[in-house]
Amino acid sequence: STQEKTPQICVVGSGPAGFYTAQYLLKHHPQAHVDIYEKQLVPFGLVRFGVAPDHPEVKNVINTFTQTAHSDRCAFWGNVEVGRDVTVPELQEAYHAVVLSYGAEDHQALDIPGEELPGVFSARSFVGWYNGLPENQELAPDLSCDTAVILGQGNVALDVARILLTPPEHLEKTDITKAALGVLRQSQVKTVWLVGRRGPLQVAFTIKIPRPRKRLTELLLQTATQKPRAEEAAHLASGSRAWGLRFFRSPQQVLPSPDGRRVAGIRLAVTRLEGVGEAIRAVPTGDMEDLPCGLVLSSIGYKSRPIDPSVPFDLKLGVIPNMEGRVVDVPGLYCSGWVKTGPTGVIGTTMNDSFLTGQMLLQDLKSGLLASGPRPGSAAIQALLSSRGVRPVSFSDWEKLDAKEVAQGQGSGKPREKLVDRQEMLRLLGR
Ligand code: FAD
Repeated sequence: STQEKTPQICVVGSGPAGFYTAQYLLKHHPQAHVDIYEKQLVPFGLVRFGVAPDHPEVKNVINTFTQTAHSDRCAFWGNVEVGRDVTVPELQEAYHAVVLSYGAEDHQALDIPGEELPGVFSARSFVGWYNGLPENQELAPDLSCDTAVILGQGNVALDVARILLTPPEHLEKTDITKAALGVLRQSQVKTVWLVGRRGPLQVAFTIKIPRPRKRLTELLLQTATQKPRAEEAAHLASGSRAWGLRFFRSPQQVLPSPDGRRVAGIRLAVTRLEGVGEAIRAVPTGDMEDLPCGLVLSSIGYKSRPIDPSVPFDLKLGVIPNMEGRVVDVPGLYCSGWVKTGPTGVIGTTMNDSFLTGQMLLQDLKSGLLASGPRPGSAAIQALLSSRGVRPVSFSDWEKLDAKEVAQGQGSGKPREKLVDRQEMLRLLGR
């Protein structure tokens, strides 16, 4: 029957990994049907909620994802949290194959005293706040201090530093939220330190071409080894903004203000490198340095969370154990993107990785390793969801919200003014 020739596949998560996996499957199997489940009301994962507002060209991949979503063999089911609204075994029952592409949302805690003080945030929640992620809208960071410290020196740390230091008028025509722009306009932050445990050669941000590396390294070393000189201090006092890198420093304690009500600084242990090659480690020398600041943003690492007790999970690495995207010991279950590789790499890397998972899945399908016989696909899942009072949103629902956002942005010359309130979004969809 035609049904038997129609593999029903579902993908969990609608970020780059989910969409690129779907794209690969649809392109390389003429009958495959792909359902994409997403917990947010809106698609695209970190392309919408991570990528910085002043990098609009990076978001062009949304056009490709939209084409994929428009395929008549693809459906988007937003507002469905897998692991809560529907379980992975239920998806496995309904589909021939399930691909987990739900990203890496947890941030690594600092595990140091004072971490809970007001004024200490994870860089990811700060990013979510300025990018309109509904659950981060309450963050309301107080930017009335003059120094911010970012713990970590990866790409996310750099994005956050840049947003803190960019003159707000340069962000006015981006899709940054109105609320974030308002807070940034009032910001008193003039100096941002990026603190790293290791040295300039181990810095985690992406350097695209090797040639400037030497020059960059020299610059980094200079910044790292010098305290601000008198003329720089004068420059800072004149009101202009600056950033610097502090290398070989490991956070020990967030220091409270005298009244104990908020952060006033951070105590750093000076480190040095020991070992060689892969085994290189930063170890404390015994020296300490206190850096005064009114804001601490930690960006020392991310990991995925386990989504369902039936899915193998490597708690240490924070990823799903897999062989080229095949989840170990679970036939018919796959993974792609950051939940597979860990939170490293740009959208291009995630794309290649997702194509590879798609390729493995289709190989298994061809060699008869997946369940044969028809599967009900979304029909079965919709019945389950409806019995649980969960009402998914569709891609055309997203397109209504998208049109509303674009319209809202027009008056102020922004590409869009994001909707940030779930209730308002549901109301706009007539719910
Ligand atoms: P994600 O994009 O996180 O997508 C995962 C999706 O799964 C999300 O939509 C999430 O809501 C959904 N989900 C999670 N749990 C569930 C669940 N239980 N049920 C259903 N759905 C679920 N790369 C670049 O190339 N250029 C950049 O400028 C850039 N900037 C970045 C800035 C930041 C702050 C960050 C964090 C990353 C940036 N990246 C950038 C990297 C890029 O975002 C990642 O490579 C890519 O998003 C990883 O894709 P993913 O699909 O694995 O994860």
